[in-house]
Amino acid sequence: MRVARIIKTKEPLELQDIDIPNPAGAQVLVKVESAGVCHSDLHLWEGGYAGPQGVLMKVEDRGVKFPLTPGHEVAGTIAEMGPDVKGFSKGERVLVYPWIGEGSCPACRAGEENLCDAPKSLGVYQDGGYGEYALVPNHKYLVKLDDFDPSAAASLACSGLTAYTAVKKVAVKDGETLVIIGAGGLGLMAVQIGKAITKARIVIVDIDEKKLAEAKRLGADVIVNSGTGDPVQGVKDLTKGLGAEAVIDFVNNGKTAPNSFNMLRKRGKLVMVGLFGGSMEINLPLIPLRAFTITGAYTGKYSDLVDLVEIAKQGKLQSTVSRKFKLEDANKALEELKAGKIIGRAVINP
Ligand code: NAD
Repeated sequence: MRVARIIKTKEPLELQDIDIPNPAGAQVLVKVESAGVCHSDLHLWEGGYAGPQGVLMKVEDRGVKFPLTPGHEVAGTIAEMGPDVKGFSKGERVLVYPWIGEGSCPACRAGEENLCDAPKSLGVYQDGGYGEYALVPNHKYLVKLDDFDPSAAASLACSGLTAYTAVKKVAVKDGETLVIIGAGGLGLMAVQIGKAITKARIVIVDIDEKKLAEAKRLGADVIVNSGTGDPVQGVKDLTKGLGAEAVIDFVNNGKTAPNSFNMLRKRGKLVMVGLFGGSMEINLPLIPLRAFTITGAYTGKYSDLVDLVEIAKQGKLQSTVSRKFKLEDANKALEELKAGKIIGRAVINP
């Protein structure tokens, strides 16, 4: 089978022909129909995240090993199954839950394998979906898609699930203001999920007019271009000078994070999601004086993915896929994402 692999960071992915894995036990071999191209694949490819003073926090220091087949947003059909697989059949269309844990840490025991102490996520710590087939370690990581479009489904496994987790975390009440920073793959899902599961006013902030226009089309109530104006003032103007009840920062870099903090109202909640990186200086007394809650969110749990697929099957989420690439064009897909040319999500259809 053909796979596109990162052999060495910052170098083009290599197209290789390798043996098709033979599933044993409860393993399932999925024929990949669609694999989402996430900005996190770019961070992997670049070798890490920008830490303070721009120093790279290397993914290899965090347990990632190369060569690696990236791709954690995988939808396809079951090609082969190990003898212990139950409840699935060959040819069935499935979405893969990629946030696999080692199974025994406190998070795994609580059903939050995405927060495992020793993660084994597909496309990060073991081979993922940039290939014709992907080997899933256990049938318990599959969600049935029935006839749901695999390209629209793929991005639910990360951009959808992460946005769902973050929107649930802020728990905004009816009429409150939820600001979403970054109208990329994740932010556009968050706009739609915010509309689907809350009655908050959704404000989206980005530096790219085309992405803001797409957010508006997908239901955002207010768009703010932070490239041409001050987003903190923009949000204050919308909220009688008080600030927003909740902000989800899908960029979370040295520029956006201070703004996200400063646009919160008293008792506000900030969820940091993006991995663009950098650092910020925080005015510490403001955290207790204004009783802010600042938290992070990392992907989501299996049961939430099942719920999210149900929401999508009910027609409440539009596909954010704007570009489809062949496997041999995986480098092009990553380059275009890096250059900011992808609106919403790109997928690879091997
Ligand atoms: P993307 O490239 O699709 O979108 C990024 C968006 O941010 C673009 O619309 C871009 O115009 C906008 N942007 C860039 N700089 C900005 C700025 N200064 N102000 C406002 N907007 C700005 O990326 P994505 O796939 O949506 O991922 C976003 C980030 O989230 C990445 O760092 C990714 O690795 C990370 N991520 C985190 C998790 C998690 O669980 N925490 C999961 C998936 C992705």
